[in-house]
Amino acid sequence: MYHGTKSCLTSPTTKSSEKKVAVIGAGVSGISVLRNLTWPIGNIKPVAFERSSTFGGHWCFTNDTLPDRFGYPSSSAIYSGLRTNLPKELMTFPGFEHDSTLPTFPTQDDIFDYLRRYIDHCDLEKYMKFNTVVTNAVPKHPDDFKTKWEVTYCHVQEPMNTTTEDFDAVIVCSGNCVFPNVPPFPGLKDFKGRLLHSRNYRKAKEFRGQTVAVIGSSYSGKDVARQLSDVADKVYIAHIDQPLNTIYPNGNVIEKNYAAQSITNSSLILANREEIEIDSLILCTGYRYRFPFLSEDILSIDDEHVSPLYKHVLHLDYHSLMVITLLRNIATYPISFSMGKFARAVIDGNANLPLKIDMKKDIASEVQWRRANKLVGPRWHYMDTLNGILTKV
Ligand SMILES: Cc1cc2nc3c(=O)[nH]c(=O)nc-3n(C[C@H](O)[C@H](O)[C@H](O)COP(=O)(O)OP(=O)(O)OC[C@H]3O[C@@H](n4cnc5c(N)ncnc54)[C@H](O)[C@@H]3O)c2cc1C
Repeated sequence: MYHGTKSCLTSPTTKSSEKKVAVIGAGVSGISVLRNLTWPIGNIKPVAFERSSTFGGHWCFTNDTLPDRFGYPSSSAIYSGLRTNLPKELMTFPGFEHDSTLPTFPTQDDIFDYLRRYIDHCDLEKYMKFNTVVTNAVPKHPDDFKTKWEVTYCHVQEPMNTTTEDFDAVIVCSGNCVFPNVPPFPGLKDFKGRLLHSRNYRKAKEFRGQTVAVIGSSYSGKDVARQLSDVADKVYIAHIDQPLNTIYPNGNVIEKNYAAQSITNSSLILANREEIEIDSLILCTGYRYRFPFLSEDILSIDDEHVSPLYKHVLHLDYHSLMVITLLRNIATYPISFSMGKFARAVIDGNANLPLKIDMKKDIASEVQWRRANKLVGPRWHYMDTLNGILTKV
């Protein structure tokens, strides 16, 4: 049982022995973690399990939209022609710049190329195990906060041929835009036109000449509507956020600042009772957290709050379990890098953590603050806080 303030996965007897760490996912978060686990050189032996055939997660474009045999959607939700919505300077790992000739908002290909160069530069690919899906991670000693983990995995084509291996720690980097959130709109099943979630949207030209409704106006909703406006006849964007204040170039995007209420076989009905005949409906309604390889007793999800995690990273009961991939609407590159540094400090036994009771209080007050602010408000304080813990090392 954990009673003290010192986070440490080592005991005097194992101090000098090699520590095996399972990293689940080799997207941006997994790459950040691998870099931190392997540099500065220490006694950590990481393996990053990646269910697709290469690294990069979302940034490796694929036309594939079918779920695999484990129920996972394809590893990327990125669509053709996507440009980043953050300036490239906010999409860098410390000390490794983008090509200076790139535009401020580069393409998906440019970002994938950046990741490839970073991986080569840091020699990280040798730690990655591709086409390998982690199906289960179980603590070996559930009463011990430093427990090792039994990690079960298999080749994506051979689900019956599993391997179970012990690891000193597990770091979850499996992504947060994976499992689509599909609100239960009445009538959705009756819609006869093309219906898809933005996760499966790939090419605007498939909607040429159509009237399309996009539900949701976050990053994907706005961007998908803009792309569609080049080829579609009309694009409706229905949402309940702040008015868009956006001028779309082709004059065929019509904003409806009302909730989508229901769907018929050929139309969308809004909360103001307006009925719009449509050919296709694209749900840009976000994502839900899911961790199919961990039991809900270990990581629970309540109203999209994943717990119990200190600073959204460290499991309160198991310091050998960390999650690096949760935060959305952030600068993933520097923040996941800081989280990776934090994970390294925990594994090395170098993080000065508060008492468990204080970590619990911290979680409760953060949840209260975020709910009171409807999950909006400044998020940048987070990185300072996380780095603050590290500077105490
Ligand atoms: C459409 C879209 C546009 C975006 N645009 C931007 C942008 O412009 N700028 C920006 O900074 N961010 C953007 N993002 C956010 C993006 O999610 C992050 O930039 C970043 O790619 C997240 O990296 P990740 O490693 O946490 O997750 P992912 O990229 O999702 O990687 C997770 C990896 O884990 C693997 N995996 C999952 N489960 C398992 C398992 N059980 N076993 C083995 N492997 C597993 C997956 O195959 C995947 O490769 C965008 C996201 C989307 C969806």
